[in-house]
Amino acid sequence: MSLRPAFVIHRVSEITLDWLKKENAKGLLIDIDNTLTPYHSEKLPDDILNWLEMLVSEGIPFIPYSNARAYRIDNFCKRFNIKNPGIAVKPLNLQLGKILKQIGIPKKNLLLIGDQVFTDSLAGKFAGLRVVLVDPVSTAEFPATKVMRKIEHLVGRHRWKFDRIDR
Ligand SMILES: [Mg+2]
Repeated sequence: MSLRPAFVIHRVSEITLDWLKKENAKGLLIDIDNTLTPYHSEKLPDDILNWLEMLVSEGIPFIPYSNARAYRIDNFCKRFNIKNPGIAVKPLNLQLGKILKQIGIPKKNLLLIGDQVFTDSLAGKFAGLRVVLVDPVSTAEFPATKVMRKIEHLVGRHRWKFDRIDR
């Protein structure tokens, strides 16, 4: 079984409205740490903040799908006026049923976006959701994540070609 997700890109902000339409994606479950914000930071880089604001103004719903600490998820939700779905517990997807209900969109019209193979990508495989894997926003990470990066290398993540999303 290949662990390669449906799509591999550099950064969430590459994702365009046209591409979402083309992929029939109507809602997004998005990891927070190192997908949207750098490690140990709640500051959204400008391009990513603009991208999230574009989603809001275009009415594309998104929900954090994160294993981060509760307060980080909570702060993100408050900022974008989203009901806090709780900690995702990826790749086990313990909250997925609740989150699917909250977003109210069928799985086939959702994308799960994240930066890690063994949490985000695997969660998508288990759940039957298409995954968009992005490069981590920062190189600083939890010690455990650094170990996972070595394992990601072993499964060949560095050989996965990037998918082109035209702007
Ligand atoms: Mg992450």
